[in-house]
Formats: sequence, C-alpha cells, structure tokens
Amino acid sequence: MTDYSSHIGIIGGGIAGLTAGCALRLQGIETVVFERAHEISEYGAGISISPNALRLLKKLDIKDELIKSSFIPKSAVFNHLNKKLRDIHTEVVTSSRQKLIQVIYNKYIELGGEVIFEHEYVNLNQDTCEISFNNGHSYVVKHILACDGIRSSIRQQYFSSSGEPVYSGYSAWRGIGLSSSKQVQFYFGPGSHIVSYPIDDEGRTSFVGVIKTKESAGDSWKMKGSKADLLEDFKNYDENVFSILDSTADIYKWDIYVRPPLKSMCTKNITLLGDAAHPMVPFLGQGGCMAIEDAYTFAALAGRSSSDYKNTQILYQKIRLKRNNKIHATSMMQGKLNHIENSVLVFLRNLILKYTPIISIRLRGIWDYDVDEEIKQL
Ligand SMILES: Cc1cc2nc3c(=O)[nH]c(=O)nc-3n(C[C@H](O)[C@H](O)[C@H](O)COP(=O)(O)OP(=O)(O)OC[C@H]3O[C@@H](n4cnc5c(N)ncnc54)[C@H](O)[C@@H]3O)c2cc1C
Repeated sequence: MTDYSSHIGIIGGGIAGLTAGCALRLQGIETVVFERAHEISEYGAGISISPNALRLLKKLDIKDELIKSSFIPKSAVFNHLNKKLRDIHTEVVTSSRQKLIQVIYNKYIELGGEVIFEHEYVNLNQDTCEISFNNGHSYVVKHILACDGIRSSIRQQYFSSSGEPVYSGYSAWRGIGLSSSKQVQFYFGPGSHIVSYPIDDEGRTSFVGVIKTKESAGDSWKMKGSKADLLEDFKNYDENVFSILDSTADIYKWDIYVRPPLKSMCTKNITLLGDAAHPMVPFLGQGGCMAIEDAYTFAALAGRSSSDYKNTQILYQKIRLKRNNKIHATSMMQGKLNHIENSVLVFLRNLILKYTPIISIRLRGIWDYDVDEEIKQL
C-alpha cells in the first residue's frame, strides 16, 4: 500500500478540498485527497465567485481557465417584485458548480495531485493520524484537512461544540434554463427573493428562488419539484421572471441547513475547512469563496512555517475564525433584509437600496479582503 505518512490527507474533494490540494502542492507540500464519490461530480447548479476568491484562483493559476467556460456579468439589477430599484457594477464571475470543480480538479491533477475515489471517511486514530474508510482501507498521514462539507463526520466526532446541522428556515428552488439576460438579477418580495444570472456565453442561466418556511422537507440537492409548485410559492411575482425555467424540466427544491459557528477550527492534527467548518446561508454567495480563502490561507501559512502544522493551525485559526464568523453573520442578516414583509420596512429598505451606496459599501467590505495582506501583518 502507498505510504502517505509525509502527506497531508484531505477528506473530501469539493471546492475546499481540491483548492487546498492545489495550494499546498504549489507550496511543495505532498497531498492526497480521499473522496467518497466514484468520480468528481457536482450538480449543475450555478455559483458566483467574487473578487476576494477570484484573486486567489488567479494566484493558483485557475482563474483564466474558469473564465473560459463561465460568464462575466457587467452589472447586477435590484428589483422589488417587478419594479427596478437600481443597478450596480459587479465584478463577479458566474459559472456552474460542475465547471468550477472540474477546473480546480484539472489543476490539482496537473500539479501531480492524487484523488482516491470511493473512500468514505469513517473514523481516525488521532494519536497515529491513521484514517479509516468504509471500504476497510486505512492510511497514515501527517496532518488531516477535513473538507467533508456541511455534514462533516470529523467535525461531529472531534469538535465538542460542533452542533448538528439545523434547518435555517429557508428553502431554495433552483434550476438552469435559457435566457437572453446578461445581468445578475435580484428580485425581492415579501418572504422570498430570487437571483438569476447567466453562467456561460450560450445563455444558460442559473435560477435560485428562496422562500421562508417553518418546516424542512429534506436537504437533498436532488429533490425534484414542479414549476406549478414553484409558482405557488412566488405568487406575487410576474410570470416572466420564471421564463428561464421554460426550457428545463429539472427544477429542484432544496432546504438550506446551517451549523452554529465554531469557537475553534483546529484540534491536534485536524483542521477544518469550507462548509465542514462554517456552513452558511448562501445569500451573499460566499460559502464557496470562504472555502477558497480557507484553503489558500492554510497552504500559504503551511509553506511559510515549513510544514510546522501546529504553528500553521494557530495562525490559520487566528485569521479564519474572525473572517468566517463575520461573513456567516452578515449572510444571515442579508436573508432577513431580502425577506422583509412589513410594508413600512419594505418601503424603507427599498429607499435605502435605491438612493444610498449601501450595497456597494457592503460588497466592498467582503470583496476587498486580501488574504496575503492579512498574512503579511502577522
Ligand atoms: C443554493 C446555493 C447557492 C450557493 N451559491 C453560492 C455562490 O454563489 N457562491 C459561493 O461562493 N458559494 C455558494 N454556495 C455555497 C457553496 O456551494 C458551498 O459553500 C461550497 O460548496 C462548500 O464547499 P466544500 O468543499 O466545503 O463542501 P462540499 O461542496 O459539500 O464538498 C464536500 C466534499 O466532501 C465529500 N465528502 C463528504 N463526506 C465525506 C466522507 N465521509 N468521506 C469522503 N468524502 C466525503 C463530498 O462528496 C464532497 O465532494 C451556495 C450554496 C447553495 C446551497
């Protein structure tokens, strides 16, 4: 059996795990990714990547390849139901999760990285750093990066304040259809909001509609829904908003789960990254971006401290806990603003959106964050 005792063992080949693999290999650190699926796969949902993460993808030599198969909208339009409030300049790249994962995976393989599929993590021996999988295999590694997503078993087993995933009270309808719109479109309505954007030059467009509900129906990405049920949830909107979905039968309904923020992202030889560390509601489009920031930061610090992972963990935690908890809380607040129902508050929110630079100021606070600047100041 291959000896991985000098490698970092990464559990989970999603955005966090594969980006960490690339960033670590660029620092000259050996890695192996263990992924439970039988291949790199992602559902065809849309994802937007903002400048804070794009800058890091550029440094990892991934951004240019991503852009080739994605879209760069020039503006974002904010509407209250069907009435335009304003538009702003935007700097995001919009793509599909499939494409994003594929380009990161390709880069990881190009850098000599290894992914071992059909290996579902089961448990580990923290003293020996031996990881065991559901197929009976086990491997000793030097350090473990837990990138196993919102339902992270490692978080559950080794972090006492982990908490169970809980329903956030929001459910999302999503689909990818066709549209001629070249912009990001936001629609706010009472107790709901909708976001759509093109994800390539052929007009493929991502649609996500979010409603507030009391009960979860299930958190599978694959739970199919019908357009009739979707329209029932968004009665106040003009039907034109939903024309994107005329060209697809694949409409899914999915419940959004969160976990409470952690006090620590590290323990002994285990470090949490991405949704395993901080699953958040997606209303600022930052969950994947934070996973990229986590991965880049850990690798940069590991490179700087010549693979002294104890020291890396201390600095990683110092930088990432503050940033992730802030974005987690701001995303929750954004959900509340998006879904205001009281007509006086709706009027005030719309007034502020329309006549003040509040959106740009809030976005700049997220987008201008520079990991390398933060590391320099340590
Ligand atoms: C509707 C919606 C819209 C979103 N929009 C955006 C957006 O626009 N921009 C943005 O930045 N973010 C967005 N996000 C958030 C983003 O999708 C997540 O934050 C991101 O996918 C987290 O990546 P991850 O690698 O940490 O976890 P995941 O993507 O969940 O990857 C975890 C990986 O670990 C594997 N795994 C799990 N358990 C095990 C195990 N036991 N053993 C081995 N492997 C395992 C899984 O198979 C998977 O490959 C959105 C989320 C939703 C739901």
